[in-house]
Amino acid sequence: MIPDMKKRNKPHPYSTTHAAIQSWYTVQGRHDLPWRQTRDPYRIYLSEIMLQQTQVGTVLERFYFPFLERFPTLANVAAAPQEAVLKAWEGLGYYTRARNLHATAKMTQGVLPQTAAELEQLPGIGRSTAAAIACFAYGEAVPILDANVRRILYRFFRRRTAKTPELWRMAERLFDPEHPYEYNQAMMDIGATICIPNAPRCSFCPLQYSCRGQAHPQRYPTTRPKKVKPVRRRTVWIFTDGEYYGVRKGQERFLGGLYGFPQSNRDLVGTYLGDVRHHYSHFTLEGRVVLTDECPEEEVQMHSLDAIEALPLSTADKKALQLLKHHLS
Ligand code: SF4
Repeated sequence: MIPDMKKRNKPHPYSTTHAAIQSWYTVQGRHDLPWRQTRDPYRIYLSEIMLQQTQVGTVLERFYFPFLERFPTLANVAAAPQEAVLKAWEGLGYYTRARNLHATAKMTQGVLPQTAAELEQLPGIGRSTAAAIACFAYGEAVPILDANVRRILYRFFRRRTAKTPELWRMAERLFDPEHPYEYNQAMMDIGATICIPNAPRCSFCPLQYSCRGQAHPQRYPTTRPKKVKPVRRRTVWIFTDGEYYGVRKGQERFLGGLYGFPQSNRDLVGTYLGDVRHHYSHFTLEGRVVLTDECPEEEVQMHSLDAIEALPLSTADKKALQLLKHHLS
């Protein structure tokens, strides 16, 4: 009893910073984000997954609400075929997220567990996402460590480099266990609006009185020069028998489950419809779209235009489909 009481009475080493973060969040926090106006774990989970690789503005404007309209509950996701989930994810990219969402929905039968430790066992839910869901939906006092929080920690503790386990220890040191919800939300907002990669706005930052890196924030962390993405030049092969068009189901990890037109390294004899260009995470595709009656090298399924439109398609293939429709109109 006594040591516990002592521990409780001892002020947190960052209690002043915590108070500043609380006040800042009350006034400056992005309280109107829809996933902050709910405690529904599915809505919070969906926002966390969508935001993993996509900007808040894009998620809000184009994807979050239409997805919820199509799948109002996680049980609806569980009951749907994977293809329907991929179709609703179309355009968001990083389709592994959608496949994992579907797998998690099925595994949990639409009811998410309530602790970060259990959530972390599910497909596509890493430690930080698990912590965010457990904290924002159920109030568990655990820190998060997304890209924004990482950047703050590097600067706050004046570290040029740190491995992930070390960053988690820093996250735990700075964490405010008394106000986990507000602290975690505030850290995400500070990272997104104040402690930004270029030209951080330290004079507006609630962490400024104890931040060790603020004299030269851009020194932390050390940034590696961005790799130039390779360009893949391909012929996008739209095979037709005069009525139907050939599509294949993608097997690659990053597009698995999506449909698209076959691609080839060689030139084709046929009608040139135009070019498509699309940036994937690890390469840029430059495709020359050709309509041809030459059979593709790989197996395809023949569908009408309407049927192809109803399939989940990658963004590059949607562009190719638009070129085809324009040609036929
Ligand atoms: S004081 Fe500056 S460097 Fe430190 S956390 Fe705030 S914005 Fe980032």
